[in-house]
Amino acid sequence: MDKDEVIKGGEFLIKETKAENVFIPEEFDEEQKMIGDMCLDFVDKEILPNIDRIETLEEGYTASLLKKAGELGLLGITVPENLGGFGKNFVTGMLATEKLGGSYSFAVSLSAHTGIGTLPILYYGTESQKEKYIPKLASGEWAASYCLTEPSAGSDANSGKTKAVLSDDGTHYLITGQKMWITNAGFAEIFTVFAKIGDDKNLTAFIIEKGFGGITINAEEKKMGIKGSSTCQVFFNNTKVPVENLLGEREGGFKIALNILNVGRVKLAGAAIGASKKVIDESIQYANEREQFGRPISKYGAIRHKLAEQAIKTYACNAAIYRCSQNIDDAISALVLDGMEKEKATLEGIRQFAAEAAILKVHGSEVLDYVVDEGVQIFGGMGYSAEAPMERAYRDARINRIFEGTNEINRMLIVDTLLKKAMKGELDLMGPAQAIAKELTSVPSFGAQPTDEFEKAHEQIKNFKKAALMVAGSAAQKLMMELAKEQEVLMNISDMIIELYVAESVLLRVEKLTKGNNSVEISEQIDIMNVYLYDAADKLNKFGKDALNSFAEGDELKMMLMGLKRFTKQSPFNVKEARRRIAAHLIEEEKYCY
Ligand SMILES: Cc1cc2nc3c(=O)[nH]c(=O)nc-3n(C[C@H](O)[C@H](O)[C@H](O)COP(=O)(O)OP(=O)(O)OC[C@H]3O[C@@H](n4cnc5c(N)ncnc54)[C@H](O)[C@@H]3O)c2cc1C
Repeated sequence: MDKDEVIKGGEFLIKETKAENVFIPEEFDEEQKMIGDMCLDFVDKEILPNIDRIETLEEGYTASLLKKAGELGLLGITVPENLGGFGKNFVTGMLATEKLGGSYSFAVSLSAHTGIGTLPILYYGTESQKEKYIPKLASGEWAASYCLTEPSAGSDANSGKTKAVLSDDGTHYLITGQKMWITNAGFAEIFTVFAKIGDDKNLTAFIIEKGFGGITINAEEKKMGIKGSSTCQVFFNNTKVPVENLLGEREGGFKIALNILNVGRVKLAGAAIGASKKVIDESIQYANEREQFGRPISKYGAIRHKLAEQAIKTYACNAAIYRCSQNIDDAISALVLDGMEKEKATLEGIRQFAAEAAILKVHGSEVLDYVVDEGVQIFGGMGYSAEAPMERAYRDARINRIFEGTNEINRMLIVDTLLKKAMKGELDLMGPAQAIAKELTSVPSFGAQPTDEFEKAHEQIKNFKKAALMVAGSAAQKLMMELAKEQEVLMNISDMIIELYVAESVLLRVEKLTKGNNSVEISEQIDIMNVYLYDAADKLNKFGKDALNSFAEGDELKMMLMGLKRFTKQSPFNVKEARRRIAAHLIEEEKYCY
């Protein structure tokens, strides 16, 4: 892509994206497909047959599987080649994450290791820190964990009490504190720990090896799900850490934590979608096999509706994930072209898409929760039985709305990040918001409406953006500094933004598909797009109405509600028949086939 065409983070809200400028999952090259297949093969051969050994936390077992994954190169897909990895781009890393996403708790152990465990060192480490630790982490020789959360510091992560005191001779820090909910703690060799030096206000990060001593690991937590993933409290008691193991800058720890979470959030969505696809496969197969009233339950409309909705939501989120991943890759390439070092550029590229990362985290985790919930329902009583796969999938899914920043915190972040970008002059939200305010007071145009399916859909997305900008703009103007305290309104605005981003992503994916291989039958993908847009219009209307009614009144409220109605209007469309067509294809293929 031309450098001028590189899409900037947050711009989706004010600019129209062309289908030719997005990456869609149908475009993976042979090498990427091979990496994806290798990951799936690993899950099928090493994880699923041994899931009970993993779930009972058999001593050393998950660590040995991580080593196996490392030997195959699965832990170092995006790690540079000179540090023992494959040096692949973000999109390829995302594909691997998705394909490994159906491995229940193991997906959590693996992504904690490759993500929050490895990346702080890769992105912020000095050359010698990287050389010492990254090859061992990429090969699986050492497992990594990330220690940010404390009993009194969860969402408010910068409030941690863990202390680091410099020794009198200045050679090391003594670290003391309690961390909790630490993934991989039971077998990790490396702990990235966030602590405050002396009376510092902000956190500093440290790389701590288990061998440094002074570390006590509590017993495994008893959890609702992801039971095979090790989660413990970790106590540091005057742990002696050499000064050269300070990571990044003093008081720069919170920045590291936030930036690493950006990566974790997009990746979480990828893993969630991988898990969703597995659940859909199982739901379809069960619905085809289970007979009631003399017919397979997949013949019933109520079940077909569920199968179709599982697939529609998953397809849409999948489109958004790869759209964003390619945007990140393009941003990284542009920064590298400008002379920035690769790791710094990667971090900056991902930071620029922090709002999209939060959107995907929320959407991906909520799609998976929907999919597993309906999966349980399709399985009926067997959905509730530990003998069948849905019970585990249902319990395992729930954590995704809690870690990597809760969905409430992420929803607030979406609006906060976009507003901050606007205040810094990186994103012109005010101009378009004012234009919409003007449009509200003018007579609506009744000119020729587009007849082409995609032109119509683009028009609808343009209107969705107007709806979100109208609500966000007037909320910002009316509530000013109070907006941060009006969380209900923030949630509404955020939900509008999430819906329109995903809706546009589906449209772009399907539109690009039509322009590609014409021999591919895509009428059901068009159905998916149309059903998604139909639902999105209603959701945007409801979220917008809730927000406007919360802060506006009188004629102004009336005018904005009319505008909202106009911006979220839709043509009549038989969603039932569209869902039936989508479900029929799934049932025939006996798997998620989009
Ligand atoms: C299985 C598991 C694995 C984990 N792995 C790790 C790990 O490897 N490393 C690590 O450091 N941490 C880890 N965590 C911790 C996780 O990131 C935190 O649990 C999460 O950030 C939420 O913090 P909390 O549990 O203290 O909840 P709280 O922050 O107490 O939140 C409770 C509720 O209040 C809401 N809330 C909080 N603040 C606000 C606000 N300002 N406005 C509105 N609502 C608010 C939240 O959204 C939530 O609904 C893990 C947790 C679990 C359960």
